[in-house]
Amino acid sequence: MFFPYYFDPTMIILIPALILAMYAQFKVKSTYGKYSQVISRNGLTGAEVARELLRQNGIYNVTVHQIGGHLTDHYDPTRRVVNLSPQVYGSSSLAAIGVAAHEVGHAIQDALNYRPLKIRASLVPAANIGSSWGIPLALIGFFMNSQFMMNLGLVLFVGALLFHLVTLPVEFNASNRAIALLDRGRYLSRQELGGAKKVLRAAAFTYVAATLVALANLLRILMLIGIRRDD
Ligand SMILES: [Zn+2]
Repeated sequence: MFFPYYFDPTMIILIPALILAMYAQFKVKSTYGKYSQVISRNGLTGAEVARELLRQNGIYNVTVHQIGGHLTDHYDPTRRVVNLSPQVYGSSSLAAIGVAAHEVGHAIQDALNYRPLKIRASLVPAANIGSSWGIPLALIGFFMNSQFMMNLGLVLFVGALLFHLVTLPVEFNASNRAIALLDRGRYLSRQELGGAKKVLRAAAFTYVAATLVALANLLRILMLIGIRRDD
């Protein structure tokens, strides 16, 4: 089957969301790049800050590891590990300390059984299926004139959108915790804290952009269904 994309007029609504997502990626890379050059006066590395913050919050069953890659930092709730990229693990930059504290924020969410984190974890399978099958099924259904396939694509894609939506409070909450912890523990001065905040805000913006792309895709599916219904 060959369906050139320009036959699908709903592609248009994706364009602004995709431009925003590209801008968000550019912004996070440039902000991270800028503040990974600014070394904190405190001199502690990302790994050291992460370990101290975990201990201060009474979390002793979470370890801090170094993993490969760039901007690959994440908290692994199944193994209870704060995974930090080399640029964060061994660096004392404002970006490194901000990111390390953010990942500790996720570990604290896990320890407190923070509800959105649990919901997000339970949505991972639905999100994987929905993001890979939702749009293709809706498009195939559109060209084959099958309402059933289009509706199935819609339902699957809603799973992916829900995942993006619930990711937002999880990420914002982890960053707010990070900033509060760094401030309270005097890890960074007020001025330094501003830099760390900018890095975390730029990272959060990429999640907002990804949610808007998912929302635009959902609108696309609804439009495809609407076009066929009017035929
Ligand atoms: Zn995060």
